[in-house]
Amino acid sequence: MDKKVKVTIRMPKNPKPKEWLAKDRSLQYIADYKPFNMVDGEGIRCSLYVSGCLFSCPGCYNKAAQNFHYGTPYTQELEDQIIADLSQSYVQGLTLLGGEPFLNTQVCLKLVKRIRKEFGNTKDIWSWTGYLWDELLLESVDKLELLNYLDILVDGRFMLDKKDLTLQFRGSSNQRIIDVPKSLEQDRVVIWDKLIR
Ligand code: SF4
Repeated sequence: MDKKVKVTIRMPKNPKPKEWLAKDRSLQYIADYKPFNMVDGEGIRCSLYVSGCLFSCPGCYNKAAQNFHYGTPYTQELEDQIIADLSQSYVQGLTLLGGEPFLNTQVCLKLVKRIRKEFGNTKDIWSWTGYLWDELLLESVDKLELLNYLDILVDGRFMLDKKDLTLQFRGSSNQRIIDVPKSLEQDRVVIWDKLIR
């Protein structure tokens, strides 16, 4: 006799618009800072990994950083170091990862505003997020403000069944590399024009 086995497939969480707010969640902790790397976007970059994410994607590449208590507090000293590192002519820009940058907007907004003030648009800003582009457009003011400072957004949850390690800068094929200024201007998702795969 066949016995039916119940298989539960875990999926990332799907928040309602404005359900998760940085002001309620973020402790303004940093999981890691990696200056002068070549893996978190185009060119040589400085990467800030913020702590805390609620999407709970099975297979998350940085599970420890899902915890809002993980790591150390963001400090003025770290910010000054990031600015000094970015001032090197060979550094193309900053990358925000996590954790979830859009649930740590206090830290991310402070940093990106200073970058635009000191470097204008000579340094680009990339961010990863578990949110989809369309979800972010329905989100809180702080998230929309952060989006407006970005050049590139890599959007969407990590989906284990769509995992593909051959993709540029993404872990799963549902994720997209989005040109933010063009997408905002044209009111539609415009994919990065240097996408190869
Ligand atoms: S969105 Fe990113 S950091 Fe958050 S759980 Fe998913 S893979 Fe991990």
